Amino acid sequence: MSLKLLVQGGAVLLPDGLHRVDLGVAADGTVAGLYTPGTAPEASEVIDATGLQVLPGIVDIHFHVRAPAYPERGTVQSETRAAAAGGVTTIFEMPISKPCCASPEELIRRRAHFAENAVVDFGLYVAPGDLTEASRDAMLAEGAIAFKIFTTPAPPGRADEFDGLALPGAAEQLRALELAAASDRPIVVHAEDAALLAHFGARAEALDPADAATHNASRPAICEAVSVAQLLTMNITARARLHIAHVTSAATVQVLRAFAGTSDFTAETCPQYLFATEADVARAGVFGKVNPPIRAQADQDALWQAIADGVITHVTTDHAPFARAEKAASIGNFPAAPPGAPGIEFMLPAMLDAVAAGRLSLKRAHDLLCANGARRYGIWPRKGALLPGSDADITLVDPAAETVIAADTLHTHARDCAQLFEGRHLRGKVVRTILAGRTVFADGTVTGIPGTGRHIRPPA
Ligand SMILES: [Zn+2]
Repeated sequence: MSLKLLVQGGAVLLPDGLHRVDLGVAADGTVAGLYTPGTAPEASEVIDATGLQVLPGIVDIHFHVRAPAYPERGTVQSETRAAAAGGVTTIFEMPISKPCCASPEELIRRRAHFAENAVVDFGLYVAPGDLTEASRDAMLAEGAIAFKIFTTPAPPGRADEFDGLALPGAAEQLRALELAAASDRPIVVHAEDAALLAHFGARAEALDPADAATHNASRPAICEAVSVAQLLTMNITARARLHIAHVTSAATVQVLRAFAGTSDFTAETCPQYLFATEADVARAGVFGKVNPPIRAQADQDALWQAIADGVITHVTTDHAPFARAEKAASIGNFPAAPPGAPGIEFMLPAMLDAVAAGRLSLKRAHDLLCANGARRYGIWPRKGALLPGSDADITLVDPAAETVIAADTLHTHARDCAQLFEGRHLRGKVVRTILAGRTVFADGTVTGIPGTGRHIRPPA
């Protein structure tokens, strides 16, 4: 047997840690084997990974492009190119589009669009739509990776993007949990209590719209914590595979702890909550506005503690590009600014920097970014591992090199909206990304071909 590719000389991250082995890729783009150095069969291509760490390609389970709608915010091509540059080989796209991805027809349309344009592999979420079993089953038959709902109402003027997705009432949330429970797919929830948001939003109208603190005052942590507590209470009987998106606060961590063991739930946080505080938002202005808001240092500390003790088991990007013009139109007006920021090229370097700082092990960081997500969605060890038979999705990182976040070297279309992290120096750098045995990013350049990313379905 001869190999399509041999990655030699590196330290390969296996489920039990780093091993000094060579990694062979078969002609079909899967891992052929792991070899004691010098013992691998012949290969048509050899990559020297001396001094590098060889990681299973990152799986980001929370990503937004919104395509084919809003190309001015970024396209499948631009944002999956950014994913490749960030060491991310699989993205799970959220259903916000125009119209919302809440029907089998829309899922088929988006699937075709992504299949033509994606540079990395992709899974597609759906919203529960009309909350019927027939619609749920039809969307699952077309390969929906999981469900997503918001407990908030649709933002003003964006009703069609959130139709079937925004479920502010408890009864419809319970119905969505029950529908998801009867399938084996997870349901991801953006959790902020609608009534409390209305209450605090009205109060915040008296505050200075240019002050970053106004955003936090309009959506304080209690909105998130109350909604999460309600969802977890309902899930005791609904028994869905519930996943809480982007946890931001100490209050919510406390709720997650209190409900431990009561149902099958997991929780994620994001780099913007682990590596920034409201002081960074004050510096970045509306470019740093995300929902839920970035909070105080004590909240950030609580999130790291929750990671340390396994209360939070996933780190995702919530990558959400907007056009610079859209953000710029609301400079000095936090309530009016669109919420979201690009993060796909920041996440892995930021977590590598945390590893370099001794905050967590490389293995734990990779579990949070990749392996735990692959397991939760039933695609491990095809994704999230480099075992014989796994997809040869490989991220080569140099732990000794530095990543500098700068607009002119980012690949996201929203590179001019990255003010939250611009200028950061991070220890650890993505030097090459490989998808199914083919290099899609190397030395700062994306080489992946649009349309080679594959649609990832749940396992049969
Ligand atoms: Zn999101």
